[in-house]
Amino acid sequence: MKKLVLFDIDKTLIKHSNAHILAFSEALKKVYGINSSIDVINYDGLTDQLIIIEVLKKNGLDDNTIKLKLKDCTKAMIDSFNKIVDKNRIVLLDGVKELLEELRENNVLLGLVTGSLEPIAKSKLKKVSVDYYFKVGGFGSDDVNRTNLVKIAIKKAEDDFDFRFSDNVFLVGDTPRDIKAGKEARVKTIGVATGIYSKEDLEKSGADFVLENLKDKNRFLKIISDLKKGFYIIQF
Ligand SMILES: [Mg+2]
Repeated sequence: MKKLVLFDIDKTLIKHSNAHILAFSEALKKVYGINSSIDVINYDGLTDQLIIIEVLKKNGLDDNTIKLKLKDCTKAMIDSFNKIVDKNRIVLLDGVKELLEELRENNVLLGLVTGSLEPIAKSKLKKVSVDYYFKVGGFGSDDVNRTNLVKIAIKKAEDDFDFRFSDNVFLVGDTPRDIKAGKEARVKTIGVATGIYSKEDLEKSGADFVLENLKDKNRFLKIISDLKKGFYIIQF
């Protein structure tokens, strides 16, 4: 049975992108006239649209004012990101390229589930030359809710590839918010402690598997192939 592995981007595949963080501040200033860093909230694992909403709420704006210009703000973010991305160094995390290559060779369908707006997500991965591995995705521009992004990515796999969703989808991410989204979308979750959360944090959030990083490609392959052995309790 064909398998689909969906990866988060920030702190799962790549280190932090300063250009992305700066693009938020520039767009918030340009569109809402607010001078704020996104550090006023814990944004790890939130979608870009939700980060904008939460930061603006923290700055005292009401829901209506926020919603009215949300699309303008995401457009301004993309413009800003495109202007600064070439000066920004994006670093692929250790073992990622080798793992993606191994999965591709094993005929695993690869996708993205990221809170980043689609043009920003694709641009980041292009800079580190791994964009072509990913055939489907749910992006922060598709929905504010991360669980829906998982469902969108699966639907694209079913529509565009020879793929049927059962117990054959794995979501890989570095935050409890990734794990929660995966569980709500009824896929298997793999937490990876390459962000701000420890292995214990990810275990507590209910991840089916937790890894220190993505360096051990054989362990990763074993996790996704043990599926056949009835290793899981499927929760439907
Ligand atoms: Mg992340």
